[in-house]
Amino acid sequence: MLPYGRQSIDQSDIDAVTAVLSGDWLTTGPQVTAFEADLAAVTGAACTVVSNGTAALHTAYAAAGIGPGDVVLMPPMTFVATAATAIARGATVRFCDIDPRTATIDPNAAAALVDDATRAVVCVDYAGHPGDYDRLREVTDAHDVTLVSDAAHAIGSLYKGRPVGSLADLTTFSFFPTKNLTTAEGGAVAALDASHHTRAQRFRTHGLIRDPRQLRDSDEGGWHQEVAELGLNYRLPDVLCALGRSQLSRLDSFKARRARLFERYGVGLAGLPGVGLPARHGDVDPLWHLYAIRVHDGRRREVYERMRAAGIGVQVNYLPVYWHPVFADAGYRRGLCPEAEAFYGEQLSLPLYADLGDADQDRVIETLWTILG
Ligand SMILES: *Cc1c(COP(=O)(O)O)cnc(C)c1O
Repeated sequence: MLPYGRQSIDQSDIDAVTAVLSGDWLTTGPQVTAFEADLAAVTGAACTVVSNGTAALHTAYAAAGIGPGDVVLMPPMTFVATAATAIARGATVRFCDIDPRTATIDPNAAAALVDDATRAVVCVDYAGHPGDYDRLREVTDAHDVTLVSDAAHAIGSLYKGRPVGSLADLTTFSFFPTKNLTTAEGGAVAALDASHHTRAQRFRTHGLIRDPRQLRDSDEGGWHQEVAELGLNYRLPDVLCALGRSQLSRLDSFKARRARLFERYGVGLAGLPGVGLPARHGDVDPLWHLYAIRVHDGRRREVYERMRAAGIGVQVNYLPVYWHPVFADAGYRRGLCPEAEAFYGEQLSLPLYADLGDADQDRVIETLWTILG
């Protein structure tokens, strides 16, 4: 089965990992700080690496001080973790509809929903296409709320020439194998504000403070470390940070290959009846994570099944978050975000990854023409 997404691992990645495996550190060591510095150069903000993208969201919400009584506004067209981690902080999630052209949060809808209880607005850079950050910033500035970006899809993407990571107060990344780069499991939090960054660094390691100048009991002894705000163990091991650094050095080639495949899909599928192809705003330069088409006329399920039967591992991203039974049981009703629900009803992700060859991609295109042409 041709997958919809998969990692690209070459000899340089393998060499980077084996070099660290036989060294002194397996977990927190010099590769962690080096990977964080490399990420800062790509994202334009101070970075904290963590054990996965879900941990990154949890850490970002904690760094923003989100807790019980706070409302976090987010689009439902995302992976359930965007909401689950806000709820894990004790917050209430409110869903905001999407702009159907990009499947990212609609800034006008967000402006209409933000109120005094809102503590954060989350933008999910769906498929790698950045949301409209300038418009979202107007909304969050007017209400003094934190702008968070779930950029699990979008490391390496640009918005008006600025890198994802430098656009929101806090930005999270995932390095799961299907994403734009991988550390097997891994993630990161980029923070523009120094106090957010310090809080994220502490949250990753139990909230522990070691710096003598920051201690409340500075006279306890050389062994002393203390916790002022609770954290968890969300560390990313040195071995995986070495893989991350190697992968990051290949990011430009990943971006170029994915852009080329995106373009080839556009040419190969032009004129195919009954489908909508992904749109791109003129002011963004995405590192495309998904190739998300819309299959009209109620034929998405049929196309999904016939593609899978042909050995092509298409995928659907995503079930609107509040359609999951756990949200339905909590009182969220269908119909809340009509654009997101309509998008879900037609969405299909075609195979897209750096190592996808032209011949395999041509087979995807030909199979779609056979079904719908
Ligand atoms: C993958 C993903 C996550 C979770 O990342 P993990 O590394 O799998 O924990 C969160 N949000 C979105 C939009 C994702 O695609």
